[in-house]
Amino acid sequence: MKAFYLLLTFPLLAQPTFTLTETVRQGELVHIETTASGKLHATLAKATGKTTVPLFPDGKGGMEGLLPVAVTDSVGLFDVVIATEDNRTLHTVKVHVVNGKYPIQNISASTSMKQLTPLPGEMEAMRALYTAVTPEKKFFTPFHLPVSECRNSPFGVLRYHNGKPSGNFHRGLDLRSPMGTPIHAPAAGTVRVAQMFRLHGGTVGIDHGQGVTSHYLHMSKIAAQEGQEVEPGDILGYVGSTGFATGPHLHWGLYVHSIPTNPERFVQGLKHCYVPPPPSAKKTKSRKK
Ligand SMILES: [Zn+2]
Repeated sequence: MKAFYLLLTFPLLAQPTFTLTETVRQGELVHIETTASGKLHATLAKATGKTTVPLFPDGKGGMEGLLPVAVTDSVGLFDVVIATEDNRTLHTVKVHVVNGKYPIQNISASTSMKQLTPLPGEMEAMRALYTAVTPEKKFFTPFHLPVSECRNSPFGVLRYHNGKPSGNFHRGLDLRSPMGTPIHAPAAGTVRVAQMFRLHGGTVGIDHGQGVTSHYLHMSKIAAQEGQEVEPGDILGYVGSTGFATGPHLHWGLYVHSIPTNPERFVQGLKHCYVPPPPSAKKTKSRKK
């Protein structure tokens, strides 16, 4: 009787549950939640290489994590494996990576813009930000908007410079915003970068914890300081056109375990600016008339 009672109170045989995003676009995230505990990690086996991220305590006795799928990752069905520290597999699930369908965007870069080079240490400081993984989660979703204006260049678009492929894609969102507009922290975190760079321009980078970092570029003036703890709404700096920029705007980047992801998935109510159709589309239309 006693043994039976113990079994009822301690369901030792209960299997942990695993909840994962099973369909994910290139450039977005697989959310992982499990009732299992201990030092766990998740690995996405890709067409080339793999991405492994740690899971963190979710505050309810289980673990959670964000597994990023890069814009450049192949589409298809891939295994995500949740495993222990000593690589014992606890769970495997097939995740469907679908095409992000990112369009091409041409930008007119002046000769002086194309000749911009980073300051010594600039790229290293950004890399240190992107790769930061501090265990404490300081962010909550949805994030606030850093400025209230509309989005004039989405995440992920394939960038052409003066009509030629740059070999790069847009690693954040551009928010059209007048010169001098205050830029607010969208979520809490620790400021890791606050510097007037040459290529990135006036830059603030925040570590939100658990592998989530964000950065704000082209500022005219920086208000935050490295090492500062910020809360949502705190002023980080002011909109400008410094570094590789064609006019005043905020470039907002959000990286998860050093992979660029779409900040738009973290906010609500972001307006899209009206973008006129490209000249070639207009021509086709007028010919039909
Ligand atoms: Zn941008």
